[in-house]
Amino acid sequence: MFDLMQQVRLCDLHFKHDPHTGLKAIIAIHSTKHGPALGGCRFIEYPNTDQAVKDAALLAKGMSYKAALADIPQGGGKAVIMKPKNLKDRRALFEAFGDFIEELGGRYLTAVDSGTTSDDMDIIAGRTRFVTSTTLSGNPSPYTAQGVVAGIKSAVKHRLQRTDMQDIHVAIQGLGSVGQSVAEHLAKAGARLSVTDIDAEKVEAVCDQFKATPIAPEDFFSLDCDVLTPCALGNVVNASTISQFNCKVIAGSANNQLSDERWGHALHERNILYAPDFAINAGGLIFASMHHRHMDDSAIAKQVDHIGVTLSDIFTQSEHSQQATNVIANKLAEAKLYIRGNQASPHSQHQWPQEKGHAVSNPHAVH
Ligand code: NAD
Repeated sequence: MFDLMQQVRLCDLHFKHDPHTGLKAIIAIHSTKHGPALGGCRFIEYPNTDQAVKDAALLAKGMSYKAALADIPQGGGKAVIMKPKNLKDRRALFEAFGDFIEELGGRYLTAVDSGTTSDDMDIIAGRTRFVTSTTLSGNPSPYTAQGVVAGIKSAVKHRLQRTDMQDIHVAIQGLGSVGQSVAEHLAKAGARLSVTDIDAEKVEAVCDQFKATPIAPEDFFSLDCDVLTPCALGNVVNASTISQFNCKVIAGSANNQLSDERWGHALHERNILYAPDFAINAGGLIFASMHHRHMDDSAIAKQVDHIGVTLSDIFTQSEHSQQATNVIANKLAEAKLYIRGNQASPHSQHQWPQEKGHAVSNPHAVH
């Protein structure tokens, strides 16, 4: 356990077992250097506790990197509830989970993730205020889409020297909450769209609405286009797809797009500009954080659009240093997390007051 914590540079791990409700939960906090750890709560079945802990730890690290790069006053955390085979009372379980979060006094702020819904967050909100993505707070997906579009525009400018999207051919994989919204923005901007999803009804709807061309899921990776936009699954850049790409840019919302970090280098060698996933898909996190801090819509929109600027910086640094964009993004996030002094950001000091006697931003939490 401690080896994993050291490897991931995890700050702390919290466990809760509540025999009355069957709750078996893990909260992993990677960093609170810039503010309370924010990250979703997964509610899925795990083969064993080790797998659940590993999942929570790695996901928490990813959230720290995402928050650091997006310059928001949050650390990275993630919760995992091991889904019981026979769930008796969902409400009671999420109430017990809310109590668990409350016990941490604000060090961790939860949100929706795989297997949880806004209704679950509403139950948690009955026990603690350290929760986002309730039915009242709204859906983060449109903000994720807005950030992805800002990132695509930035990549198109850098790689194709174009400041508009007219007739730029974009292929979108996955027409869920994010993919549909990305399609809408890009269609309005004049892009030519090819779209795919395993759900034929979604494809039909998007094609009708935005004059997009349908493509078969298996044709996505090899499509001759300007931009590939993965908005469905992770691990889309892998040993089998790397030789198929026929695009100039890969920029989409899916988490963990590289099955291995080395594929970032392979894309760089092939002159395919890759927008690192945790940089381009931070819009939902930005929304959750800023909305929770009662910031207004225009400030949120401005911060989400800043994703385009962050990516532009990554692309320029990659070009100058001849290092892959994922390497640059990791270095930038790590500089903010580990190197730049040992103080919490001014944001976190001003906007996160001490709660229940706990210093919610802990400048000493990260080594
Ligand atoms: P979603 O579940 O609403 O949509 C995913 C879509 O992908 C579905 O329509 C599904 O049918 C489709 N799909 C699944 N497998 C496919 C395949 N093999 N080929 C084509 N389509 C396939 O999810 P979402 O909220 O739109 O998120 C999309 C991606 O972005 C996910 O990877 C998610 O982790 C990531 N992401 C989302 C947010 C957010 O705010 N929603 C934030 C950050 C990252």
